[in-house]
Amino acid sequence: MRKNKNILQDTFGRQHTYLRISLTELCNLRCTYCMPAEGIPLSPKSHIMSFDEIYTIAKTFVDNGVTKIRLTGGEPLVRKDSEIILKKLATLPVELAISTNAVIVDRFIETFKSCGIQNINVSLDSLNAEKFNQISRRNDFEKVFKNIQLLITEGFNVKLNAVLIKGFNDNEIIDFIKLTKILPISVRFIEFMPFDGNKWNKEKMMSYAEVMALVNAEFRHDEVQRIKDAPNDTSKNYKIEGYKGSFAIISSVTNPFCDSCNRIRLTANGRLKNCLFSSTESDLLTPLREGKNIEPIIQKTIQSKFKIRGGMDTLKKLEEPELHGKNRSMIAIGG
Ligand code: SAM
Ligand code: SF4
Repeated sequence: MRKNKNILQDTFGRQHTYLRISLTELCNLRCTYCMPAEGIPLSPKSHIMSFDEIYTIAKTFVDNGVTKIRLTGGEPLVRKDSEIILKKLATLPVELAISTNAVIVDRFIETFKSCGIQNINVSLDSLNAEKFNQISRRNDFEKVFKNIQLLITEGFNVKLNAVLIKGFNDNEIIDFIKLTKILPISVRFIEFMPFDGNKWNKEKMMSYAEVMALVNAEFRHDEVQRIKDAPNDTSKNYKIEGYKGSFAIISSVTNPFCDSCNRIRLTANGRLKNCLFSSTESDLLTPLREGKNIEPIIQKTIQSKFKIRGGMDTLKKLEEPELHGKNRSMIAIGG
């Protein structure tokens, strides 16, 4: 039931209706931009939210006005009880979506369907098996590509997420776009973002402007169509005339979309982050386990949200390792 008090609005009037829940800090891949080679210190198992706790926290958000929940991680599907969690969350009056690397997605097709999940985001950073295996530090390209085709055949709305890294996969941008000629998918190019331990530097990043320069050099001006972005969309969306699918750029570094941000994140160990780039977080799990009301903590966390990128409002600030290094690694946030 919708509560009267609006705890999901921040001081800039942004309404936080989209909750992203990380189910686990574990993953069956090891993407270089997401986690350090040596791994990350994992939370003790007892500090990870149980499926009941996930449900209780999610329900609190839904009762207060959240309309969309995305499950992420780590790799959400490697969690042993992910199916139970999906089914439980599907009982809430909310749009349910998932981000996955697709390595074991074939085992979940029926679960997704029974839970009403239609929108599935899949990470795919290269169309070349060797390069994919290099960036993910695992040899699962064939499995992932087959599973992406399976998702499409089964009728899901598939978005492919490719993190662009200069000198690594920037020469595949046009190949990715050409994939949308026959496939009804959206390929989303993500600007490489700095997080703890991912060896980010500006030189490795392909910007929105650079991607569009490549696109405009390849296609005629009248073939490249800007399409309408959905409300609160993080991406700038385009389509090549006559192609079945579309492509987009997520420009969190060079063109942040913070003005219309409606996202709030819950980490696998029950911490609330009001921004992907925030260096602070609020513990919801301990008070929940103590039987306390978590709504005042949610409200306070949302009200303390900065206007832009967790306070790193200029590119210069974002580039400072002392600032972005205070954050977690992406794998432990839940992208
Ligand atoms: N394992 C799932 C997957 O790979 O889709 C879900 C979790 S993953 C952290 C979510 C998204 O974050 C992926 O699309 C991934 O490409 C993106 N991501 C991770 N590290 C990133 C970085 N440094 N910059 C930009 N995007 C990043
Ligand atoms: Fe795992 Fe996804 Fe991070 Fe890759 S991007 S290491 S698949 S959580």
